[in-house]
Amino acid sequence: MGVAVVQYSKTASPGLSGMGVARQLYQLQEVDLELESNEQALARIARQLGESLAVTTARNKFSREQQCLEELKGQQHSAEWEVDDFTAKLAVVDDKLYGGRIANPKELANLQREADGLKSRRSQVEDKVLEAMEMVSESEARVIALGSELKGLEAEWQHEQQQLSVEAEQHRAIVADLKQRRQLLLASIDPSAVSIYSEVKKQKGRAVARVEGGTCRGCGITLSTAQLQQAKGDRLVRCASCGRILCPA
Ligand SMILES: [Zn+2]
Repeated sequence: MGVAVVQYSKTASPGLSGMGVARQLYQLQEVDLELESNEQALARIARQLGESLAVTTARNKFSREQQCLEELKGQQHSAEWEVDDFTAKLAVVDDKLYGGRIANPKELANLQREADGLKSRRSQVEDKVLEAMEMVSESEARVIALGSELKGLEAEWQHEQQQLSVEAEQHRAIVADLKQRRQLLLASIDPSAVSIYSEVKKQKGRAVARVEGGTCRGCGITLSTAQLQQAKGDRLVRCASCGRILCPA
């Protein structure tokens, strides 16, 4: 007749019909599906917990810019020292030039040339100082912008992590509850029926199929009147087409 009919042990579950066991197995399946989806959610959360790539990247950019700013400040200061150096040298020359101690026109002309040379070199270095100052202020603006971007990302990440921890806690509570319900169900179902359930579940993913409108909801095949009758009887009936345990509505 093509329908696999499995008789379960009546002594283990006195008074239960095949339909009753199929319904219990259907309940077990519901619990198992819920367990699976909660465990999947927990695994997804576990992957999302921990360092964020966006935060790490922003932190690296920020610290690189800070380092760059320090280098630019160093360049500005050494240019400023160079200016001071020229100013000091110029003061010495000016002192000789205007101190009135030297009267020799040739010597005075040499000193004047030396003073002009120092002034022109100092002016070049002053340009360097201005350029460095501009770069420092640009870098400072970038440090501020990157710093606030990093702060925002860190706050967002922290909020997300907190949210995930709360979610994980909820899923763990549901899983604990479902496991307990599963234990209670298992205690009330015939062990041989459970082992058939486990075996079909391994092959099909879902072991129990609802019977609706005379068809198996697992594979969609139309069941014969005889099969429908058997499914409602006191034996566990499996669909001839997909092998799932039939659970009449
Ligand atoms: Zn089927």
